[in-house]
Amino acid sequence: MALENLRTLYQQVILEHYKKPRHRGKTDPVDRHQRGHNPSCGDTIDLTVKLNASGDRIEDVKFEGEGCAIAMASADLMADAMRGKSLTEALEMVQSFQNMMKGQAEFPRELRKLNVMQGVAQFPVRIKCATLTWHTLKAAIEQSSEPSAGFISNEASPEGVL
Ligand code: ZN
Repeated sequence: MALENLRTLYQQVILEHYKKPRHRGKTDPVDRHQRGHNPSCGDTIDLTVKLNASGDRIEDVKFEGEGCAIAMASADLMADAMRGKSLTEALEMVQSFQNMMKGQAEFPRELRKLNVMQGVAQFPVRIKCATLTWHTLKAAIEQSSEPSAGFISNEASPEGVL
């Protein structure tokens, strides 16, 4: 497929997930909850996670929030991909996604849908939009089961006052 067509395909998939998200809402019950914020674009994500009985596997991920098409599509694609994954697998996928945004990796066949986000790596200012939901999920997984207060931010420097 020509590169130009491939780019158009990626954009179509992103727009489709933005307009018709399949995983918007809140899980029931809420075993983990984390908010994320990307100040450079204004995206916010409110993630909820339902775990299995032993608490080591993701049964469901849902999101709420406001943001650009890339941030919302990334959240929807991630929620889809995370169902049934162990927490260890989920953290590995977060790492793989970050590597993909650096152009260093892509997902294997069974997760190839996530590779549509590769196109975003060409636009450095939008990478934080794509990774926001993944950072937020990582924080949700790594926290204890107590609900956390406030937002996590994916702006690296706390001194960076806008
Ligand atoms: Zn954004």
